[in-house]
Amino acid sequence: MMTDNIFLKIVEKKIPARIAYEDERCLAFHDVNPQAPTHVLIIPKKVIPTHADLTDADRDLLGHLHLVAAKLAEQLGLQDGYRLVVNCKEQGGQTVPHLHMHLLGGRSLHWPPG
Ligand code: AMP
Repeated sequence: MMTDNIFLKIVEKKIPARIAYEDERCLAFHDVNPQAPTHVLIIPKKVIPTHADLTDADRDLLGHLHLVAAKLAEQLGLQDGYRLVVNCKEQGGQTVPHLHMHLLGGRSLHWPPG
């Protein structure tokens, strides 16, 4: 399993990020290349390379990530709506091999995503 990646370095505070939320299980920080007025990444501190690597042991963690996303959306003023995205592997557009949920909002988002 890949254990060295840029998001893990952010978790370990080895490289800086604009942190929006942190607890013992997860970290949320603003994306360096925002695709919407609000673009936050929510990640587990545990290394899970892709969505496809999730196991039964991650059930509670996944629920936690979603609840953190909902709380952050409210705190960041996304009362009119938002989108959660998880890109998985190459064809899904994943570029960092550490599971992350994109929280996007602050404008009308198009569908289909392309
Ligand atoms: P994905 O393409 O789903 O793997 O998303 C990776 C996201 O991480 C992209 O939106 C990048 O802009 C973002 N990203 C990459 N490096 C950093 C970093 N050091 N700090 C914040 N966001 C980053």
